[in-house]
Amino acid sequence: MEWIDTHTHLFAEAFSTDLDQTILRAKKENIQHCILPNIDENSIDMLMNVCRKYSMCSPMLGLHPCEVRSHYKEQLHQIENNLSSCKPVGIGEIGIDLYWDKQFKEEQIEAFKIQCTWANELHLPVSIHCRESLDLVLDIVERFSFSLHGVFHCFTGNQEQLERVMALGMYLGIGGVISFKNNQALRDVIQGADRSRIVLETDAPYLAPHPNRGKRNEPSYIPLIGRCMAEIWGIGIDEVAKQSSQNAKDIFALH
Ligand SMILES: [Zn+2]
Repeated sequence: MEWIDTHTHLFAEAFSTDLDQTILRAKKENIQHCILPNIDENSIDMLMNVCRKYSMCSPMLGLHPCEVRSHYKEQLHQIENNLSSCKPVGIGEIGIDLYWDKQFKEEQIEAFKIQCTWANELHLPVSIHCRESLDLVLDIVERFSFSLHGVFHCFTGNQEQLERVMALGMYLGIGGVISFKNNQALRDVIQGADRSRIVLETDAPYLAPHPNRGKRNEPSYIPLIGRCMAEIWGIGIDEVAKQSSQNAKDIFALH
């Protein structure tokens, strides 16, 4: 049984003192690969240091919507300058977040669109963060003249939104939120989802799955999410591992 964590911030401060042990625990749980989405122009060095040190880690590059500021064009310029040397497996994490702060909403939208054009030009998938903005993001993506590929990270949408993601040919990133006790509605939506379009992710250090909710999250918790998916779909956990890992390899072109 092997797993892939498709969205994990192992370069975050939260792992600065015990990353070696965190990686070991992940390997013990058969996590074969971790994909690390960038945050902003200042986190690229930390991100790349981790990816150079641990061969199981691959980078994504992008500007997180919560870090978009008025000078976002300069921020994007700095990140874009690193694309050829960092060889990211995707563009992320990008998107729109209207939960924390709406001050830079227009800038967030512009930055998102620009980064989607990078993905299109480089033939890379995206990892989309869409908190309180899923319909808006879907409206934008549906109007692109090109077809965007990638993952709606931390998908928490309803049936209609799920169908719009499927119609775009994109994937759902499923993390710890699916395991929260008060989230039956999401489990009901995901139960009917196409199994070939689901990838698993921790979003570590955030959103640890049940029964570790509230603790620091880490890639070794991926099987807890897998177990939850196995219950939802009524299949074996090994089947969830196989399908979700294959999906991750397909979308991120991992070997
Ligand atoms: Zn994230």
